[in-house]
Amino acid sequence: MGTAADAGQLMTMLLKLVDAKKTIEVGVFTGYSLLLTALTIPEDGKIIAIDMNRDSYEIGLPVIKRAGVDHKIDFREAEALPVLDQLLKDKENEGSFDYAFVDADKVNYWNYHEMLMKLLKVGGVIVYDNTLWGGSVAMPEEQTPEVFKSDRQATLEFNKLLAGDPRVQLSHVPLGDGITVCRRIY
Ligand code: SAH
Ligand code: CA
Repeated sequence: MGTAADAGQLMTMLLKLVDAKKTIEVGVFTGYSLLLTALTIPEDGKIIAIDMNRDSYEIGLPVIKRAGVDHKIDFREAEALPVLDQLLKDKENEGSFDYAFVDADKVNYWNYHEMLMKLLKVGGVIVYDNTLWGGSVAMPEEQTPEVFKSDRQATLEFNKLLAGDPRVQLSHVPLGDGITVCRRIY
């Protein structure tokens, strides 16, 4: 389930371009994108990394430790929505994050977006993964394999909502499984 390496290259580029220090990751799995972010942000950079499954995070953790970047990571084993909600209760977090990467349950992407729009600073960037969902978003419904159908629907709806969101500048990039780069403009 790790993000594609070509998308990863673009993500490190974006992290550098926005000079990201304070970041969020929703959906860690074994930590490919987490390690990439931790290696790219500065020594005093921070990542709030959320996943409801600590076991998979712990598979990759020895590698993250060996890379000497584990001190940048604040791992939260939890459902992502309540954690984001909790972060928003602290006014200091509002408009304070430089970058977020979202790669968890597709049905909640719009809910994550609404919360991240408050946490992210103007000029900050959110990257959403899997926004082409195996190419299924461009297939007719009847040709879509059954396993793709429910998340295809969620992704189509999310992509449509994002396209109509005046708060963000978008770039839908066909790398990996499709990533959507979203810059908060106000
Ligand atoms: N970003 C990772 C891959 C993440 S895979 C990488 O590039 O390597 C998706 C992850 O999202 C899984 O580990 C799963 O446990 C997590 N996840 C799914 N739904 C979630 C939710 N509601 N809250 C938190 N984590 C969730
Ligand atoms: Ca993914």
